[in-house]
Amino acid sequence: MKPIKKVAVLGAGVMGAQIAAHLANAGIPSYLLDIVPKELTEDEKAKGLTLQNPDVRNRIVREGLERAKKLKPNAFFIPELEKLITIGNFEDNLNWLSEVDWIIEAVVERLDVKRELFKKVDMVRKPGTIVSSNTSGIRISEIADGLSDDFRKHFLGTHFFNPPRYMKLLEIIPTAETSKEVIETIAEFGERVLGKGIVYCKDTPNFIANRIGVFAVMYVLHYMLENGFTIEEVDELTGPVTGKPKSATFRTLDLVGLDTLVHVANNLYNAVPNDEMRDYFKVPDVIQKMLENKWLGEKTGQGFYKRV
Ligand code: NAD
Repeated sequence: MKPIKKVAVLGAGVMGAQIAAHLANAGIPSYLLDIVPKELTEDEKAKGLTLQNPDVRNRIVREGLERAKKLKPNAFFIPELEKLITIGNFEDNLNWLSEVDWIIEAVVERLDVKRELFKKVDMVRKPGTIVSSNTSGIRISEIADGLSDDFRKHFLGTHFFNPPRYMKLLEIIPTAETSKEVIETIAEFGERVLGKGIVYCKDTPNFIANRIGVFAVMYVLHYMLENGFTIEEVDELTGPVTGKPKSATFRTLDLVGLDTLVHVANNLYNAVPNDEMRDYFKVPDVIQKMLENKWLGEKTGQGFYKRV
């Protein structure tokens, strides 16, 4: 078993920020890194802020963490534990990855972006460091393709569910190349330190829970549009009426983020060319319109519901 004393989380969005918080609650220090924004908002420019300032460069990362706290006020059991999270960015602080035992990637659900980032990670991590992706469904072996032998041996999927603090399931997706020691280390750490229930998955599109879950959500979405149900009706029928008040379809999608849903649905559509139900993974126009309007769900304050 490999010791895991320090972790790096790449991406401080909905999942990355909450995973770092979850680790902190378990007493595990982490680095939380994200991209530097290309440009500042008009408001920030008016305040005289500049991207030359390292604090401003880390703004996006800190915002992710603040958003996680606001959305989930209980993200931290003990506020002091937040000190266990060190904020950084990919441009200035990627060398920090050489200090950690496990690197968890949680950036946008795009194969090209993940690959590009992992190429850089492969150059700075020390040999033997475990690396995992929190991808919702991109094949793990496809992400690892072309990376070093040592990387591929220490690479696997670790799929946390949202919100990671409360969702017990952790899907572990090894590839044919992942070493037994790495799989056992993450399973043991996941169970003992993070309190997760582990399910091992084959490296197939969307693994297990999301293969079923995304089909269900997309089916409901198309069914609603074709048959004229309202969002409230669907949420009542898929939530409280079934005895699962927290699994209402559209409330869940607002929590997930509509941009992430669209990436996941598009990826799945492309990954299952022979699936007779494939057309359900086509994203309806209304969702595209919501994206154009930045109605991404809780992360932007407006999705199917408006945050009040
Ligand atoms: P998010 O959109 O909230 O955050 C994505 C992060 O990626 C952002 O912080 C962004 O700055 C960063 N990013 C964007 N472009 C980048 C680039 N070119 N290079 C590097 N970083 C970039 O997304 P999320 O919901 O946190 O999802 C992260 C991962 O976790 C995805 O793979 C997603 O499929 C998966 N996931 C999401 C959920 C969920 O409910 N949202 C659940 C399980 C797994």
